[in-house]
Formats: sequence, C-alpha cells, structure tokens
Amino acid sequence: MSGSTSRRGGTGTGTEQGEVLLDASFVRSWIRAAADDVAAHRDYLTQLDAAIGDADHGVNMDRGFTAALLALEGDETSSPGRLLEAVGNAIVFKVGGASGPLYGSAFRGAASALGEAEIFSGEDLLSALRQALEGIQRLGAAVEGDKTIVDAWVPAVSAFERELRSGGSAADASARAAVAAEEGARETVPMQARKGRASYLGARSVGHQDPGATSTAMLFSALGRAARQCAV
Ligand code: ADP
Ligand code: MG
Repeated sequence: MSGSTSRRGGTGTGTEQGEVLLDASFVRSWIRAAADDVAAHRDYLTQLDAAIGDADHGVNMDRGFTAALLALEGDETSSPGRLLEAVGNAIVFKVGGASGPLYGSAFRGAASALGEAEIFSGEDLLSALRQALEGIQRLGAAVEGDKTIVDAWVPAVSAFERELRSGGSAADASARAAVAAEEGARETVPMQARKGRASYLGARSVGHQDPGATSTAMLFSALGRAARQCAV
C-alpha cells in the first residue's frame, strides 16, 4: 500500500521512515503473527478441510506453527535464513499431512535464498518468496487453478513483485501480497480440485474454499502485519 508514511522508490533495505528493517527480528514477527492467525482460525481451517478433505488442516497448521515458534524461541543468534530453515524443519517434522512437506519446502526454499545475510532487501525477500513457491511446486506439481496453496501463493508473489517494481517499499509489497493471497484463496471456491485429497471428490470439490489456500492467505496477512510493525 502506498500509505502516507511510505517512501516511494526505496530499495527496501533502508531505515528511512516507513521502510522495514528486514532482519531476524522481522522473521520472528512474521512467524509469530502467522502462528497467532492460524491458532485463532484453527477451527475455521479444519471446517474448510472437513468439506473437501479429512478435517485436519487447522490442527496440522496449528501444530506446525506452534513447533516453529518453539524452535525460534530457543534461538537468539541465527540469521534470518537459518531461522526460516528452522521453521521449515519444525513444520516438516510435526505435520504429517500434505501441507507439512509443502509448507516445509516453502520455508526451506526461502531460507536458501536468504543464505547467511543478517539484513536483507525487499528484492531479497522477493527472491525468497519466489524460491518458496518453486519449492512448493517442485514437490507438489500443482499449477494455478488446481485448487491448492499455489492459487494463493502465485498471485501473492506477483503482487509483491509488481509493488516493488513500481517503487513501493517491502512493507507496501507485503501489504499488496496479503490482499492478493486473500483474493486468490477466495477464487478457489468455484475450482474443481486436481491435486491432493480434495481431487478425489471430483466435481463435488466445487463450491468450497481450499483450506491450504486459506492458510496461505493467513501467512501473507501475517507478512503484511509484520512488515507494518517493523517499519521504522
Ligand atoms: P492432507 O490433505 O494430507 O490432510 P492438509 O489437510 O493439512 O493435508 O492440507 C490440505 C491442503 O494441502 C489442501 O487444501 C491444498 O491446498 C494443499 N495441497 C494438497 N496437495 C497439494 C499439492 N500437490 N500442491 C500444493 N498444495 C497441495
Ligand atoms: Mg487434511
């Protein structure tokens, strides 16, 4: 969003007013916000999964993000990339469903994009999000329209990139990504699932919002909130 505090044309690394300091503490804020959202909407996510799956998505995500938070709490020294790697590992370890390995490879992909840097730019965050999406698609082979988390991730990453390219800050780009992910999740309603458990339902999967796309929208909403909080 191009709010009044934004400095257009920023690189995303600066500490000028309205810019976000992208560092380990930003990553912690992001994961904490995501864990809060998932916990608050655990039953809603599970209800969505009850309609077209096996009614465990809320429980899976809550278990995964609780473990991720725990991993971060015990680690005060790691770089942002290492923290994201720990998040990915915790989620893979704790979540048995399809979403565990998928979210896990997303965070591990983002981690490897950030490497060992202590502070990263908006462009670096874009690369991290791109690599996260690549990790998801490498593992799950889903494309847009299959009614999966990819339907929220793709528009979110595109919106993030568009905002950066038009001179927005990382906070602006994160806010745009949050809106796009939410829209992407809503747009899964009329889709027929072609991947995952919901695909077994065939045409009966139409008319329901995809649980994974919905939790992805929460992840991006959390990114937007963390970016706002960490704006200096
Ligand atoms: P499970 O389906 O094993 O019970 P979850 O309920 O935790 O696991 O997660 C279901 C979500 O996983 C779906 O709503 C969908 O968004 C996502 N999903 C399933 N298969 C794929 C895939 N191949 N690629 C991307 N996302 C997928
Ligand atoms: Mg399920």
